Amino acid sequence: MQDCIFCQIAHHEIPSTVVFEDDEVIAFEDIDPQAPVHILLVPKQHINTLMELKENEMEVLQHLFLVTQQIATMKQIEYSGFRVVLNCNSHGGQTVYHLHAHLLGGRKMNWPPG
Ligand code: AMP
Ligand code: ZN
Repeated sequence: MQDCIFCQIAHHEIPSTVVFEDDEVIAFEDIDPQAPVHILLVPKQHINTLMELKENEMEVLQHLFLVTQQIATMKQIEYSGFRVVLNCNSHGGQTVYHLHAHLLGGRKMNWPPG
């Protein structure tokens, strides 16, 4: 989608600090980090929200979680632990309407979330 910021990042039309990329997913540093490690994992396919992910597209999430494991290891937070957050729509706190997951780590996370 032309006016989608994450599509533009996926196409390298606007800069980002990429930590991993393959044909299906791009992962980059969040511009406003909420933890010492804050990576966004973004499928290259434009899907607005989790609610719009179709049954035959579920492998998008499968792959995204495998990449999450790799990045957690790369960032050396695989044993200390981390949180994966996927915000959906307004009450979920979604601000960019291109499906993505946050990988947060490097500090103890609070529960319940805000
Ligand atoms: P969400 O609120 O779940 O939709 O998450 C959107 C995230 O994208 C926020 O954490 C923003 O800080 C982040 N973000 C927005 N624009 C950029 C950008 N150009 N580069 C990196 N991260 C961004
Ligand atoms: Zn997009």
